[in-house]
Amino acid sequence: MTLTEKILARAAGKAHVEAGDNIWVKTDVLMTHDVCGPGTIGVFKREFGQTAKVWDKDRVVIIPDHYIFTADSKSNRNVDILRDFVREQSLPYFYDVIDDPNGNWAFDATKGNLKRQYGSRYAGVCHTALPAKGHTRPGEILFGTDSHTCMAGAFNQFATGIGNTDAGFVMGTGKLLIKVPETMRFRLEGKLQPGVMAKDVILHVIGEIGFDGATYRALQFDGPGVVSLSMDDRMTIANMAIEAGGKNAIFEFDARTAEYVDARTRLNGTKSSYEPVEADKNQTFVYDLVVNLDKLEPTVACHPDPGQRKTAKQMNGMKLDRAYIGSCTGGKTSDFIEFARIVKGRHVVIDTFGVPATPEIVRDLQTTYWGDKTIWQHMMDAGVQMTENAGCAACLGGPVDTFGRMNKGGLKCISATNRNFPGRMGSKESEVYLASPATVAASALTGRVTDPREYWS
Ligand code: SF4
Repeated sequence: MTLTEKILARAAGKAHVEAGDNIWVKTDVLMTHDVCGPGTIGVFKREFGQTAKVWDKDRVVIIPDHYIFTADSKSNRNVDILRDFVREQSLPYFYDVIDDPNGNWAFDATKGNLKRQYGSRYAGVCHTALPAKGHTRPGEILFGTDSHTCMAGAFNQFATGIGNTDAGFVMGTGKLLIKVPETMRFRLEGKLQPGVMAKDVILHVIGEIGFDGATYRALQFDGPGVVSLSMDDRMTIANMAIEAGGKNAIFEFDARTAEYVDARTRLNGTKSSYEPVEADKNQTFVYDLVVNLDKLEPTVACHPDPGQRKTAKQMNGMKLDRAYIGSCTGGKTSDFIEFARIVKGRHVVIDTFGVPATPEIVRDLQTTYWGDKTIWQHMMDAGVQMTENAGCAACLGGPVDTFGRMNKGGLKCISATNRNFPGRMGSKESEVYLASPATVAASALTGRVTDPREYWS
């Protein structure tokens, strides 16, 4: 069996499953957020009763992150609906925006977008927060009401996005009927070269198979090249499996996985035991591709779909209007470090926005010094508009007052985010070009799509 089949078989209590089997699996963790949480709660109450209790309160994780730093009252209200539900159900894992469990959330627009407006428990973007808060464990099943839930496949677990109806059912029963996906294998060899990042790996892969090339399939990343990839790298790659239609992505378990997971579960006091899965000798793949990391180049996915691949050089210096670094895919500490390495001591020439994925990342950037300045200060000095309000922000557009949103048509943005369908970051007439943080940084300095290796030192 493949890694995905092994996890699903175990969760179904079966010795063996194969692609196409329909099986009931037990859920280890169900995650929801402010956009889909209220709908999920509505389905749960409608189907199981107004006074029903969730199947296991220690396995439900609720992370508001999407439409948070906006004065839109309906968006603010969504966070309050989550808080009411958490109180009613006594759920321990709710990463609220405010500290008062009986309060109401309201963004104060008069304070502006840049200064922190959240309390001590707020965790930022769900997919980055889940592992950081100790909720991702090898061998487990994670369902989340968000398509990029597949990011947790980096940790050798089966993680996939589900809709509100399925999530309402999981909330009541802890189970879900799943069709076992076929597995596509991507064998990574070699090592990424300077100026080339994990984002380039996944943009290359999606370019090979197309934006629907993995529809309802598992993407398994293995091979000798994996060992050199950090957990952040693996998260970036797994995150974008859905951009090729994938059901899930999955990596093999190794010492790096254990080190990351053990540290986070210990720090947060979450469940620390887990059972990883190992690849069998005999695995059946519907597709098998070797990706030589040594040969990859800085890559761009052109508007309007993530499979429209070109190398940065092939873009011939296409003119840009803005640059954006942030999101679960491209807003991690390591992403900002690569970005800052390039813009440090220089100045961007187009509007450039920086949105860390989590408050911890804000803290990392504000407390790590390069010389006499923090990374944060280097970014600011380079002209990057940095917000402390970690969250999804303009990655998915959001209400009109969302930081970094493209409210006008005709703009071209190069972005470290993960999706570039029309209207994704605001106006339907704007365009999004997906690239690594390094490519976004180099392009922000020139106002044109630029190969970051020109700035590598
Ligand atoms: S940062 Fe973007 S891709 Fe990630 S969860 Fe938020 S909206 Fe979705």
